[in-house]
Amino acid sequence: MLVTVAIDGPAAAGKSTIAKKVAEKLGYVYIDTGAMYRCVTLLALQKGVDPQDEKAVEQLLPEINIDMKPNHVVLLNGRDVSKDIRSRNVADNVSYIASYKNIRLFLVDLQRKLAKNVSVVMDGRDIGTYVLPDANVKIFQVASVATRAQRRYKENLEKGIKCTLEEVEEELKKRDYIDSHRSFAPLKQADDAYMLDTSYMTIDEVVTKVIDIIHMKIGEQNG
Ligand code: C5P
Repeated sequence: MLVTVAIDGPAAAGKSTIAKKVAEKLGYVYIDTGAMYRCVTLLALQKGVDPQDEKAVEQLLPEINIDMKPNHVVLLNGRDVSKDIRSRNVADNVSYIASYKNIRLFLVDLQRKLAKNVSVVMDGRDIGTYVLPDANVKIFQVASVATRAQRRYKENLEKGIKCTLEEVEEELKKRDYIDSHRSFAPLKQADDAYMLDTSYMTIDEVVTKVIDIIHMKIGEQNG
């Protein structure tokens, strides 16, 4: 049986950490949709295109070729950009670009193709509501903004990205606001999604919980 698991939620809620581990344990393919919006943003910044100029960003579409390799390597037009897409400049601008309908339609098409014929864990903002509305399992993963900011701040320091805790918290709040207020496929919990607050949970606890939910849902659907 092919299984699709959708994990949505606000920025830095730990979705990709959990999605990767769950996919590894179950032998599913992990698809990071945020990385795709980050690739478009990186290209715009590299080309000197204003991320807030929708028409100009849309004109980049024919030049965009994104390839998701195993081991979480992201190729943009053949170049490994896995690190570059995590920069602060990209994080600061990605939500503008992710609000443009034609950019979303282009990337959603790619996301749906990648989820065809394989079992996947896909994380993002609109997976359960828009990209894969028939997903077998939908998780809405949240954590308090303070917890999320702490986690991302620590991650940034480990990666050598300079920032203050306050800056990280502001960036997360700004992104969440734009992501949940855009008109097309905004960030919101799907009616049939399981809400998981991970503020006081360890990574292993969340992974175990998500796998339990997957087994429970699949059991229900099979029987
Ligand atoms: O998940 P990540 O933080 O890497 O996502 C970066 C940004 O990409 C989000 O803040 C959001 O603006 C956008 N995004 C989206 N829809 C998705 C995945 C990400 O709009 N499915």
